[in-house]
Amino acid sequence: MLAQSAVADSRDVFAASREVMPGGVNSPVRSWRAVGGDPVVIARGAGARVTDQDGREYVDLVGSWGPLILGHAHPAVVAAISEQARDGTTFGAPTKGELELATAIVETIPSVEQVRLVSSGTEATMSALRLARGATGREHILKFEGCYHGHVDALLVKAGSGALTLSVPDSAGVPAPLAALTLVAQYNDIEGVRSVLGSRGHEIAALIVEPVAGNMGVVPPLPGFLEMLREETTRAGCVLIFDEVITGYRVGLAGAQGRFGITPDLSCLGKVLGGGMPLAAFGGQRRLMQQLAPLGAVYQAGTLSGNPVSVAAGLAALQALRAMPDAYERLEQLGSEAELGLRDALATTRTTGCVNRVGSMMTLFLGIPSARSFAEVCHADTAAFARFFRGMLDEGFYLPPSQFEAMFWSLAHERADVQAFVAAAARVLRRLAG
Ligand code: PMP
Repeated sequence: MLAQSAVADSRDVFAASREVMPGGVNSPVRSWRAVGGDPVVIARGAGARVTDQDGREYVDLVGSWGPLILGHAHPAVVAAISEQARDGTTFGAPTKGELELATAIVETIPSVEQVRLVSSGTEATMSALRLARGATGREHILKFEGCYHGHVDALLVKAGSGALTLSVPDSAGVPAPLAALTLVAQYNDIEGVRSVLGSRGHEIAALIVEPVAGNMGVVPPLPGFLEMLREETTRAGCVLIFDEVITGYRVGLAGAQGRFGITPDLSCLGKVLGGGMPLAAFGGQRRLMQQLAPLGAVYQAGTLSGNPVSVAAGLAALQALRAMPDAYERLEQLGSEAELGLRDALATTRTTGCVNRVGSMMTLFLGIPSARSFAEVCHADTAAFARFFRGMLDEGFYLPPSQFEAMFWSLAHERADVQAFVAAAARVLRRLAG
């Protein structure tokens, strides 16, 4: 038994955690199953760095899986959280902070006329789907293989090898009849999506997509893909949902929809929006959003929705981002220097691999020359990635522990961090090649 006051190292903490939490974690990817070994137990973070329970410091490229675009413990965010906590942490009643955050979202995200705040990305996508089904009276949805939208039953589904197969659930506990309502297409497959929407569009309530795929590693949309989704969903009368839980405020202040100039019907936000606190949102056209209770027939609710502390953190983060006119330019520069450096390291070490990047989200794929689709991504060399991950950890870089995740650069990183990262990656790749 681990006494609360005992000073324990990472190994002790994780061993004891295994006794009281399944796999020792509260979310499966944290367990490092994909790369082997026990995870580092984090004690604290500051700026671009995290420190583990053993006092070892790492340059952090996980950023809590995306939220920390300002880095850890940004002073303005910490101050907003403390100030709000002193005034009460939750009321379950309307607050002025909610109005301010909702207004900021409406001002920044082109598709959003009205918004509802929730506590997680999963809640946002689940609610957006229900709204789309309620609004259209249709039951099917269409998603893409390799896109993740939270652990919503209906979304824990991917196709078999075909472009469109009868869907089977990815997780035990998802009823097969529910999964059968989820159709699956291939990301970046323009003809495949056209044909599904052409033949079955009238049954489909919503098409949900990560406008930049981030959960099969970063896979950008091919030119014309998002445009086609907009055209074809409009033609079929289905609701186009952009899941911008990762990309919202990450690839630009107006999200991927602003960056690529495509306006969906509904958008899901999370991660950066909450400034590192549990907060997410879904929003869109007024005609759709007004079908939510209490105005409409689609029920959706939450005791801690629009939580004042989370809202204060989110507002502080958005204010900080909006106050920095060059924020996204800086992120682009950091990302671009990292991308070019990694490409160079692949070339000089004669390692097969490729780098995909949109702004500050980036994946190094090992073992494949290109990663434009789920099919290509599936051939990545996950064993080589695990060795690369270990090597980078030894070099003092904390990367996402899976080939199929994004690294995130933040405004707390400096050029020197990128240069050190590239140099370390080159050393690790050289060791792996030799
Ligand atoms: N959508 C996307 C695109 C995500 O990446 C995630 C989480 N990684 C979610 C939804 C679910 O968000 P949450 O983990 O906050 O439920």
